Amino acid sequence: MEEYDTIVIGGGPVGLRAAHLIAEAGFTVTVVEKNKEIGFPNHCSGLVSANFVSKYTEAQETVLNGIKGAMVTCENSTLEFKDAKFHAFAIDREKFDKLLAKKAVKDGVKILTGEEPESVKKNSRFTGIKLKSGKILQSRTFVIASGANSGVSKLFGLYNKPMEIIHTIQAEAEMEIPDKEIVYVFINKKLFGNWFGWIIPTGNNTVKVGLGTDKKEDIMKLFDRFISETEMLKNANIRKNPVAWIIPIGISQKTANLNALVAGDSATQVKPLSGGGLFTGMFGGEIAAQVIVSALKSNPESADLSKYETLVFEKITPTVKRGLILRKIYKTIPDKDKASFLEALDNPEAKKIITTYGDIDYPYLTGLKLLKFVRKPLLKYFTEMLRSAI
Ligand SMILES: Cc1cc2nc3c(=O)[nH]c(=O)nc-3n(C[C@H](O)[C@H](O)[C@H](O)COP(=O)(O)OP(=O)(O)OC[C@H]3O[C@@H](n4cnc5c(N)ncnc54)[C@H](O)[C@@H]3O)c2cc1C
Repeated sequence: MEEYDTIVIGGGPVGLRAAHLIAEAGFTVTVVEKNKEIGFPNHCSGLVSANFVSKYTEAQETVLNGIKGAMVTCENSTLEFKDAKFHAFAIDREKFDKLLAKKAVKDGVKILTGEEPESVKKNSRFTGIKLKSGKILQSRTFVIASGANSGVSKLFGLYNKPMEIIHTIQAEAEMEIPDKEIVYVFINKKLFGNWFGWIIPTGNNTVKVGLGTDKKEDIMKLFDRFISETEMLKNANIRKNPVAWIIPIGISQKTANLNALVAGDSATQVKPLSGGGLFTGMFGGEIAAQVIVSALKSNPESADLSKYETLVFEKITPTVKRGLILRKIYKTIPDKDKASFLEALDNPEAKKIITTYGDIDYPYLTGLKLLKFVRKPLLKYFTEMLRSAI
């Protein structure tokens, strides 16, 4: 029977990052990935901050396009801003995951594709997992990083029900892009409920076009309406079948037990305002690796991973909490007022603040700096905002 120091369930970016760091520290690691191919199918837009790209060489090597600003549209109002420098990048998520895997394997990680756990059984020192193929693996520790839509955390008693699920659909398309250095965001409660639609340029005339919604409606129909009702998309040529997926929103309370912990989308380590989870999730994977390495070094016979929960509460939960406040405010405000906020921000001073401080990883800080421009129209939501902040 194969025995490991760590088994990681899920070969997405979070699991692969954790696996790589644990193997680099000298421990034996295997990743169990359900799909036959790492990185495929891909559901993600791959929009990441400049900070993310400078941190991960795998992101630098898979950049498709640089982004300097955005155009946000709501009702008849549009706010467009653009800086001289790149603030974000569209990366090729499939290649990014494959590169993470390649580098992890080079440093000793074993990857089993087309496999998934069926049951879990605790022995004295090791926990055994039986895979669907019948194979049995044993390990001292586990990282559950199987994404938003998997039941694996339940097998380990670490399931946290998200506060909200956002349903998404996205496709690749070819179209004429007015400016390929900005992303296009569409706010429209009738179409997207309390989420939004997007066009993210990935090349000279290629984009990712998609939408998210908290409405319980046929998402394919919403997608068709988005395409047909959006002037910019009238001549878009949708290249492949759209991919539907989900974004989990909330704060996970139970993220670790004695020898297993949960990270990334499986632990709702996702920004509640934008749904971005690469930055927070990979950071979660890094904390997971740090806790596992230290536990295995201090007591390999009986690792205790409960410290992970404390670290996540200190380092990730505050970002998610602030995002939840922004999301509550976003949900409260009707489109006509969102449109008037866009108008209030359509001036050189506000745009300067957005381009100077705008960071997709920390929208809260920019939001605070912009408050003075929208204070008056925001006043009527004061009570609701106060309630959200408590
Ligand atoms: C439409 C959309 C657009 C997005 N755009 C962005 C963006 O632009 N920027 C950003 O930062 N974030 C974005 N996100 C979020 C981002 O994709 C996720 O936060 C990120 O992929 C989380 O990584 P993960 O490793 O936790 O999960 P995943 O990437 O989902 O990886 C989980 C892996 O586990 C595997 N798995 C699942 N079940 C099992 C099982 N039972 N056994 C074994 N393996 C299993 C899966 O096959 C998968 O390979 C987007 C999400 C959506 C839905």
